[in-house]
Amino acid sequence: MNLQPIDMLKKYFGYSSFRKGQEKIIQSILNNKDTFAIMPTGGGKSICYQIPALSMEGITIVISPLISLMKDQVDTLRENGVNASFINSSLSSREVNEVILGAVSGHCKILYVAPERLEQDYFKNTVKSLNISMVAVDEAHCVSQWGHDFRVSYKRIAPFIESLSKRPVVCAFTATATPKVKNDIIELLNLKNPECFTTGFDRENLFFSVIRNENKLDFILRYISKNKNNSGIIYAATRKEVDSIYEKLLRKGYSVGRYHAGLSDDERTKNQEAFVYDDIKIIIATNAFGMGIDKSNVRFVIHHNMPKNMESYYQEAGRAGRDGENSECILLFGGQDIHIQKFLIQQSIPSYERQRIELQKLNSMIEYCRTTSCLRKYILNYFGEEYKLENCSNCSNCINDSELVDITVEAQKILSCVYRMNQNYGITLISEVLKGSKNQRVLSFRFNTLSTYGIMSEYKIKDIVDLINALIAEQYLTLTETEYPVVKLTEKSYDVLKGTKKVMRKIIIVKEQSITEDKTLFEQLKELRKELAYSEKVPPYIIFSDAVLTEMCKYYPTNKEVMLNLKGIGEKKYEKYGDKFEALIKAYVAENNIVANSIPLTTHHEVSSKSKTHMVTFELYKSGLSVSKIAENRKLSPKTIQDHLLKCAEEGLGVDLDSFIPEEYSELIYEKIRTLGTAKLRPIKEALPEDVDYMAIKAAICKCQLNKNVS
Ligand code: ADP
Ligand code: MG
Ligand code: ZN
Repeated sequence: MNLQPIDMLKKYFGYSSFRKGQEKIIQSILNNKDTFAIMPTGGGKSICYQIPALSMEGITIVISPLISLMKDQVDTLRENGVNASFINSSLSSREVNEVILGAVSGHCKILYVAPERLEQDYFKNTVKSLNISMVAVDEAHCVSQWGHDFRVSYKRIAPFIESLSKRPVVCAFTATATPKVKNDIIELLNLKNPECFTTGFDRENLFFSVIRNENKLDFILRYISKNKNNSGIIYAATRKEVDSIYEKLLRKGYSVGRYHAGLSDDERTKNQEAFVYDDIKIIIATNAFGMGIDKSNVRFVIHHNMPKNMESYYQEAGRAGRDGENSECILLFGGQDIHIQKFLIQQSIPSYERQRIELQKLNSMIEYCRTTSCLRKYILNYFGEEYKLENCSNCSNCINDSELVDITVEAQKILSCVYRMNQNYGITLISEVLKGSKNQRVLSFRFNTLSTYGIMSEYKIKDIVDLINALIAEQYLTLTETEYPVVKLTEKSYDVLKGTKKVMRKIIIVKEQSITEDKTLFEQLKELRKELAYSEKVPPYIIFSDAVLTEMCKYYPTNKEVMLNLKGIGEKKYEKYGDKFEALIKAYVAENNIVANSIPLTTHHEVSSKSKTHMVTFELYKSGLSVSKIAENRKLSPKTIQDHLLKCAEEGLGVDLDSFIPEEYSELIYEKIRTLGTAKLRPIKEALPEDVDYMAIKAAICKCQLNKNVS
């Protein structure tokens, strides 16, 4: 009997609904169309070719660039009861032969190969006897010189496919969306009239924050002291910084490892494995780290330094929360970061033209660090996507995660000291003067005679440095871009000195990133998972993802029916591990007198409404509250609530759009929409009577679009 894709999703992977785009992509492949899909990191690309592979006759060959990724995928598939294998340089020739035999005998459904294999005659000849129904190219951007991980052997893929006696359906997957790379992929892989899908780049479960005014190390320490049990990555710009953060955290007794190019291969592999296997919780790394890992339970990614562009940032930050559970991406921004990145660009790129491009990209990155509006919207706009909401309720600019402290007096002291030192020195010397240091340089310049000498003697030097950096970040001061950066006053400085402007400093409130209410059970389940992972020799998240454990902590499943209803438990997994987890939960429930929540019935297209803020609004709306009441209730602006309701309407939920469109003007509104188009709202607004508000226009546009989709 032929299972439908949705049933396979449940049977093999244990999920009961597809993520955005997956179903259409799968359908396109099953219709035998070449297919090209762009989805963000963690978006769920693998399933898009694995499910068709299972329903097609014959074998699927997956080209994948990294040995560790292949192993990870094959482990995952085997755990789910799918017969999959890989061929790469980590196998002996005997092992390779065994895999090939398995393929020829028709046992193996999915075969992962490294692109280099396609150059070997032996491989090419044996493969000719296989019934290949599909070739899936993962990380397809590797074929393009414009992508960041160009691999020469990816160019072998197209000729390899042409050499087969029957052309299989070909599909390609990537998270890189620049037009150049897109075109290269289609052309160089020789895709035939491909169906192209872009699912959108939003990762709703990620909380984005930029932290500007804090001492970076202090912040990291505060953060991880609250998040001891979570897995996380801390990226730093240089080896030296990695080492220094690593040593500090190690000394404080945290479970940490490090990763950078200065370590031996052995040590790097060892540290990476320890992280993947949850033996250490936190890894501190340069950006060389992460390419080869699909660890799904990374709960936070902290950038100790601003990366060079948004592409790198989103890729690195995107390693958080692949399992779909709430996770945090934190960028620590300091004035020095700009200086370092500019310097690196100027030093490392000889071509003037390329420098210019890189500097432009850097500027967008800096703007991200400085913007006060929604970070999610900024990211999505950067990648060419429209984000309809003004407030995502899930980034540091959309929710208030800080308290404000008045530092006007300190700022005045610092600014006047800079002024008295003729705006001619760096941060350290200024701090020493304010502190009242007797060091040689201070004395030799006779700064001890200034009226600002020692006026902050009660502070530690480090805290004065922090304050200066905070003022730089907020542009009350600026640093020159010279080899030895000098601190200068800005226009904003004078208002502070005159006493007409207050300076407030944001102090971030650090929270625990917790994905479950029942932490005790969660930790016990993690322990059990780890034991099983050891005996199975696979990483813990391959046994069950954090998302599955979270579900267990919510529904306390103690029988097969409930277990199989949880998202992420397929039949094979249940057979293998179900009883062990049931036993643990039974004991825990008995011991703590817990009455289990009943599990909601799942429908195929159910969207998890858990973390979706517009759904919270929708619930209130359904209960009859007005927009202003909902806004009050949720401490959000009425405009945000309206945006939420529009999103609900777009998703086909019952929102009465007409109630937002004043009847007497509705004809007129529709007419203006027709004649002026919907690219810009302002011209429409200006063409209408003043009492027609933006919401009326947006609601009308939304209605038009919904009608279009129906007809
Ligand atoms: P990508 O290759 O796009 O970065 P993966 O294929 O590695 O992403 O998938 C990321 C995670 O999402 C995996 O843990 C996977 O099991 C999970 N996942 C994929 N599809 C679904 C789905 N429909 N429902 C829930 N989780 C899913
Ligand atoms: Mg992938
Ligand atoms: Zn936001």
